[in-house]
Amino acid sequence: MPVFSVPKEVAVGTAMLGIAFATGVLAGKRYPLIFGTPKSPRSIIGKSSPIRQYILDHSLREHPILKKLRLLTADHPWGRMMVSCDQAQFMANLVKLIKAKKVIEIGVFTGYNALNMALVLPDNGRVVACDINEDYVKIGKPLWKEAGVDHKIDLRIKPAIQTLDELLASGEEETFDFAFIDADKESYNEYYEKCLRLIKKGGIIAIDNVLWNGKVLNPRKDDLAAQSIHHLNEKLLRDARVNISMIPMGDGFTLAFKL
Ligand code: SAM
Ligand code: CA
Repeated sequence: MPVFSVPKEVAVGTAMLGIAFATGVLAGKRYPLIFGTPKSPRSIIGKSSPIRQYILDHSLREHPILKKLRLLTADHPWGRMMVSCDQAQFMANLVKLIKAKKVIEIGVFTGYNALNMALVLPDNGRVVACDINEDYVKIGKPLWKEAGVDHKIDLRIKPAIQTLDELLASGEEETFDFAFIDADKESYNEYYEKCLRLIKKGGIIAIDNVLWNGKVLNPRKDDLAAQSIHHLNEKLLRDARVNISMIPMGDGFTLAFKL
């Protein structure tokens, strides 16, 4: 059996009310590809785009248990909250490249990316996985065990701010190598500031959904998530504590490299 398998996704697009609707076949499993509905993840390149399919066909090397969790999550009513598989692979490559041992994930959902990072950490590595919703995490937990990496995932079910404060209070400042911020968008600035303290110099903070489905272009006053993301984007541009890159992958994510 191959270690990695590439999804075979065939998309057929139709147009309706200016929104692209499509259905797809992923590993023989039909799933809706409607942009912006709870079933489909946000993506810069439309999920039904042939070029997106080409990218996946020519780069994705997904561990079979990760794939199993992705398909399981795709059936969840909030499946679109899951990080995109190519973006997760990119983060795993970064985690490996910097030889990370300790990483934080803020917003775990069903645990796709927690598993993704645990798979590339050394056996004594640790993912501090923060979420408030145990029901979501319960979906992926058995697969963490099946992959033999559950001992690397330290799940903390409570508001992430509280977990980050506890890590700081217990002397873990500047001991983490990598953080992925992907929970409630209104708290992004606080997550970023606390992660910056927890991360070592040379460590990386990845911040997800920085384009927020395009809404950062003209954030409405009453859209607190869009406002929060846009303010952090503006702040990061001028933040001398980090070098940054904004990557147009998934719904956009920024990498901040601590100086
Ligand atoms: N990173 C995940 C993945 O790999 O698929 C997706 C995370 S999902 C976009 C956001 C998650 O943040 C949800 O599971 C939600 O329960 C969690 N969340 C929301 N508010 C939170 C908070 N205050 N503290 C911790 N987690 C929170
Ligand atoms: Ca996200």
